[in-house]
Amino acid sequence: MWRCNCGRENTDIGNFCIACGAAKNDVISAQISEDVQWYYYKGSDRCGPVTASEIADLLRIEEIDRKTLVWKSGMTDWIPLNQTALNTLATDVVPPIPMQAVSDKYAWALATVPFLCDFFLSRLNIVGM
Ligand SMILES: [Zn+2]
Repeated sequence: MWRCNCGRENTDIGNFCIACGAAKNDVISAQISEDVQWYYYKGSDRCGPVTASEIADLLRIEEIDRKTLVWKSGMTDWIPLNQTALNTLATDVVPPIPMQAVSDKYAWALATVPFLCDFFLSRLNIVGM
């Protein structure tokens, strides 16, 4: 049996969690790496060392995200978190809003705000008179 990060107990026969689809090897290596020290880049600052569970906390509070560059001893270069075993820690983190949704909201605000301003200004004029 192996226990997934989602809490599901899986049989040793399966290589993927039957609840969330996480790869067994990734889950186990992420769990083993608790005594591994990770470093990450925040802006231009190199931060760390932190453990895998501290990485999970940083993901949860959105201090870092899946694209954050991370490094641990034995790696030749800094690579995005989502290309390491740490990615399994990011599976229960709410993903960022797709750019399309952001620009739609922005366009909506641009289209609506002038109307609202005119509306309230005209109300104020009425009250003023
Ligand atoms: Zn799972």
